Amino acid sequence: MTSTAAVATANAVEIDNVVKRYGFVTALHGVSMQIGDGEFFTLLGPSGCGKTTLLRCIAGFEDVSEGAIRLHGQDIAPLPPHKREVNTVFQQYALFPHMTVLQNVSFGLLRLGWSVSDAEARAKQVLELVQLGQFAERRPGQLSGGQQQRVALARALAPRPKVLLLDEPLSALDLKLRQAVRSELKAIQRETGIAFVFVTHDQEEALTMSDRIAVMSAGHVQQIGTPREIYEAPSNRFVADFIGETNLLDVTANRVSDGIAEILLPGGARLSCPAALGARAGQGHLSLRPERLGIAAPGQGQLQATVEDHVYLGTDTQLHTRLGSGEALVVRLQNGAAAIPERGARLGLEIEAGAARLLSD
Ligand code: ATP
Repeated sequence: MTSTAAVATANAVEIDNVVKRYGFVTALHGVSMQIGDGEFFTLLGPSGCGKTTLLRCIAGFEDVSEGAIRLHGQDIAPLPPHKREVNTVFQQYALFPHMTVLQNVSFGLLRLGWSVSDAEARAKQVLELVQLGQFAERRPGQLSGGQQQRVALARALAPRPKVLLLDEPLSALDLKLRQAVRSELKAIQRETGIAFVFVTHDQEEALTMSDRIAVMSAGHVQQIGTPREIYEAPSNRFVADFIGETNLLDVTANRVSDGIAEILLPGGARLSCPAALGARAGQGHLSLRPERLGIAAPGQGQLQATVEDHVYLGTDTQLHTRLGSGEALVVRLQNGAAAIPERGARLGLEIEAGAARLLSD
C-alpha cells in the first residue's frame, strides 16, 4: 500500500478511552471512537449523556481527566483551542449584528493573521458554498434563522478546519427549515470533504444525515454503526428503544448460537431470529419493530392479539393491541394498503423478516 492510501484512510479524530469528571460527576466513562476523514459522524443520545462534553473536549474548551484525543494521529492535549485545527458551530450562532455577513465571516480570518484581501476572498468563497453569495452585504438581522445558521457555518468553515464540530446547530430552527438545512448541510459536508462531528438528541436528524452514529447514554457509548446498522441491528435495549419505535417483549431464548436465537414467544409459538452480540439463552428481551408486523387471520401468525386502539398518523396508523398473554404490542400499518382492523377485532400477527431481534441488556 502506498503512503498516499495510508493518509487517505487515516482517522481524522481518535477518542481513546476518554474519561471526563466534573468534581463528583463523571460525564464520560472511558469513551472510545474513531472518526474517519471526510466522515459525517453523529453523537446521538438523550440530554445529559455527555455529547456536548465530548465535543468540548475535542475543541479544547475542556481538558480530559483520563485518556487521549488525537487529530490525524497527533495528541492534542497540549494544544489550546485556537491551535487545534477544529472549529465549532453552536446552537446559538452569535453573529455580530452590526457587521455585514461578509465581515462576520472574514472577522475570524483577520484575527488569525490573514490579509484583508485574502480574508475577503475566502469569505466570498465560503458564502458561495453555503449559497449566500448574494447576501454578503446584508446584516444578520436582515436574514432568516436558516440563513443566519448558514453564515455561522460559513464562518466556521472559512479557516479550512480539518474537523468541524456542530453542537445541535439546527435546534433553533423550525421543523420545515430544519429539514431544508439538513440536506444543505449534508451536501456542504460532501463537497468540502471535512469530517463533521455532529451532536444531536434527534434520532431522525441522526439517521438521515450521518455516515455513522455513536449512540450514547449516561457517559457510555452504547453502539457505533451506520444508520442502517443502528436501526436494524441494535445491540441492546437502550439502542432499540431510543432509535425509532419498538416493542420490547419478555421472552425465553431456548438457544443462542452463531448469532441466531431460538425463541419461545408469549402464546407458545417458536421463532428463529438474529441475536445481538452478548445476548444469551434464558430470559431476555425481544425487539419487535411495529412496521414489520403484518396482520393475519385470527389463529394464523406467531402472535394472537386484540385491537385496543388506533392512532391515525397520516401515512400510517398505529394499532395498539394486547396479546392473549397480557403484553401490549404496537403495530404500524400503512394507510391505504389494507383495511385497518376495528377496535375489539381479534387478529393474528405475522413477524416479518427483520422485525425481531434478541437483545443484550
Ligand atoms: P444536552 O443534550 O442536554 O446538552 P449532553 O448529552 O450534551 O446534554 P453534557 O452537557 O455533556 O450532556 O453533560 C453530561 C453530564 O455532565 C451531565 O450530567 C451534566 O450535568 C454534567 N456536566 C456538564 N457540564 C458540567 C459542568 N461544567 N460542571 C458539572 N457538571 C457538568
